[in-house]
Amino acid sequence: MSFDYRNGSLYCESVPLAEIAASAGTPCYVYSAADILSRFLEYDSSFDAAQPHTVCYAVKANSNISVLRLLAQAGAGFDIVSAGELYRVLRAGGDPAQVVFSGVGKTFAEIDYALKSGIQTFNCESETEVEWISECASRQGKEARIALRVNPDVDAATHPYISTGLKENKFGIDIALAEDAYRKASQLPGLVVDSVSCHIGSQILNPTSMLEAVDRVLALIERLRAQGLRITNVDLGGGLGIGYKPGDATPSIPDYIGHLNARLAGRNLHVTVEPGRSLVAEAGVLLTRVILQKHNGAKLFTVVDAAMNDLMRPALYQAYHEIQPVHLPMDRPSVSADIVGPVCESGDFLAKDRDMKAVEIGELLAIRNAGAYGFVMSSNYNSRPRAAEVLVDGASWKVVRERETFEDLVQHEM
Ligand SMILES: *Cc1c(COP(=O)(O)O)cnc(C)c1O
Repeated sequence: MSFDYRNGSLYCESVPLAEIAASAGTPCYVYSAADILSRFLEYDSSFDAAQPHTVCYAVKANSNISVLRLLAQAGAGFDIVSAGELYRVLRAGGDPAQVVFSGVGKTFAEIDYALKSGIQTFNCESETEVEWISECASRQGKEARIALRVNPDVDAATHPYISTGLKENKFGIDIALAEDAYRKASQLPGLVVDSVSCHIGSQILNPTSMLEAVDRVLALIERLRAQGLRITNVDLGGGLGIGYKPGDATPSIPDYIGHLNARLAGRNLHVTVEPGRSLVAEAGVLLTRVILQKHNGAKLFTVVDAAMNDLMRPALYQAYHEIQPVHLPMDRPSVSADIVGPVCESGDFLAKDRDMKAVEIGELLAIRNAGAYGFVMSSNYNSRPRAAEVLVDGASWKVVRERETFEDLVQHEM
């Protein structure tokens, strides 16, 4: 939305990307505040006025404190999967009473920290975890609200690494065993067992599978209520995908929420959703500069200064990212090239056999849709300092995470 060409030059909102690259250097992540906020508002405003709801942004998609602050100020809640993410949310001014804690292996120390911080709900993924939370809450003289994350056994039809709702995945509690688990949990001290959660995967392009999971979860809630449990909340997770390839349709947020409205009407349930990717992916680009080009046999390689340590998705998921020149080239021939980084792995590519206009040494490229699962997955592999992050707001922009230095690389070593 906010990344467009003006007079042949690619902009983020009202700022030329070339200006950011000249000042902040490359590789550099650039995020649009307007894009992030408009997608959050799209979620929030698509719920029926009568439907109580909380939009909990999934922090793991992009956990820069300035991004979190933006969303906290807009009234977002947060879905966290570690104590470190909780720390970030609190540092960003997020409201702990709107934080839900997901994840398959919370440690006792993490549970203790989250309880002390006063988070809203633990989404529990095992009976052992439920027992630990009960013990921890009793010790602190508190009550912990919990949901059991159920695994509804539906196929999200996405990449196997980001599919989580099938029986064979490590996530959640088998929905067929959930009633028994709820009965046990409701007898433990220190717990308020009033919620059911699910999350079946990520980058889901066809919401039918998500709605199938919703139907199974709502049926479970009716069975639990029939047994006398007071279930007042349902957490439907995140997972809505975005169109990475040109021509791919991006599922519509209002359409999806509209389906939820219809299913939830009259059920007397507060609903939580946990979108990550669909809020921030399209709101970010990774800016990179062409170092050099080389031919190996018939193949053309364009070597750029961003690599798999900066953006892991292509190497990890064979993900496709659109790559655009920051300055539209004049009359260049079309070529097919692999866009690769300098890291010593054959898996270090950002695009394979990509048909594009020929580029030149020193030219800037924008890797699109890099706002989610980009910087957060980056590493120092090959002793590469991590990239800078920039947040654009209208005509102004600022560095919201400095590029790491060589000193940063070694500061914790002796
Ligand atoms: C990763 C995750 C999300 C966010 O998923 P997206 O596909 O980015 O929307 C939400 N909830 C849980 C429990 C998750 O693990």
